[in-house]
Amino acid sequence: MTLQDTLLGAAKAAQLGNYKPNPLVLTKGEGRRVTDADGRTYLDFLAGVAVTSVGHAHPELVRAIAEQAGTLMQVSNHVFNERAIELAVELVKRTGFARAFFCNSGTEANEAMLKIARHHHFARGDAERTEYVATYRGFHGRTMGALSVTGQAKYHEGMQPLIPGVTFVELNDVDALRAAVGPRTAAVIVEPIQAEGGIHVATDDYLRAIRRICDEAGALMLLDEVQTGYGRTGRFLAREWSGVVPDACSLAKAMGGGMPIGAMLVTERLAGSLPPGSHGTTYGGNALACAAALAVLRIFDAEGLVQNAASMGERLARGTAALVEKHARVAVGTRGKGLLQGLVLASTVDANKFVAACIERGLLLSVVGGDCVRFVPALNVTAAEVDEALAIVDAVLQDAPRKSE
Ligand SMILES: *Cc1c(COP(=O)(O)O)cnc(C)c1O
Repeated sequence: MTLQDTLLGAAKAAQLGNYKPNPLVLTKGEGRRVTDADGRTYLDFLAGVAVTSVGHAHPELVRAIAEQAGTLMQVSNHVFNERAIELAVELVKRTGFARAFFCNSGTEANEAMLKIARHHHFARGDAERTEYVATYRGFHGRTMGALSVTGQAKYHEGMQPLIPGVTFVELNDVDALRAAVGPRTAAVIVEPIQAEGGIHVATDDYLRAIRRICDEAGALMLLDEVQTGYGRTGRFLAREWSGVVPDACSLAKAMGGGMPIGAMLVTERLAGSLPPGSHGTTYGGNALACAAALAVLRIFDAEGLVQNAASMGERLARGTAALVEKHARVAVGTRGKGLLQGLVLASTVDANKFVAACIERGLLLSVVGGDCVRFVPALNVTAAEVDEALAIVDAVLQDAPRKSE
């Protein structure tokens, strides 16, 4: 038995079993490479699910976290802390939003958006506006509110009753949206790119239509940028591609570079919509997590990583498109923007075995939406690493594992 086998046995006995992970225990990471318990290394195009935005063990991020841990980690929201103030100022400056609220994960950032939307209408005397419109295939998190606006039945199974008054519409269908939004709609919530749902891109026209329809109906527009934000698509926020300004947007994943942190950014309109006492979180905005998010921004600037995400994303998109041409029987399309890219497998291919075969060849990635291979490497990924990943996928496509009959 190897060390990894021993650890996997212990995991099976002691961990809950709510995930179905690959049989891989990672023990170390550096840059875009991770090492398992038996000493094998992998090129990491999963990146902790789009989280390790500056790669593993970036010296500047490590230094900032260690220094903050030795200075001040947590003070509660009964007082202020310097790092949270600095991070809020920095995000306001970079995004044009008016205010920032900090939390610890993507689902919490979305809960904050759902709650601020209701409270905004409540405070204006329109307490009937409690409903939400969301999209099929959307993913907003696992807590009850975020789960309720997640448009995928598999996540709802056995978890009902969810919060009432949620209507789902097809992404990019403007007529369906117009029909769904009404006088009881508190907000429309959408991802600029449905990531977990299979990398389906909302068109710029659709995002503009949401803004228009919300304005006409008196509803708010909430943009879930948990996966697309913080540089992932080659802009700091994905909303910059369309120019649409939502009333609020949520961030998390890439933000802390691995340190758990999330945020809700709001425009001036919502700046006073969660008055003192209406919402909160013990750890939200703790100095340690904020120090990490600030270090990530410094690294982005020093190394030009948002620009790198754009150019490496183009390289990756060209590469996956070439693979579709070469292996048309088993790879049928590409979707994405920047370093959030997907390669769609034919229905005959076993997607899980495909991922396992990539891992076997030293490339870590994942499948979303059932048939879409997702590439979300760190934003400082190099051209050589992109080419290396593409070469491995090329080899696996050559002998793509088929679904068993
Ligand atoms: C991952 C994700 C979430 C949930 O984030 P957690 O940190 O897992 O709670 C929400 N929305 C989107 C778009 C995501 O990709």
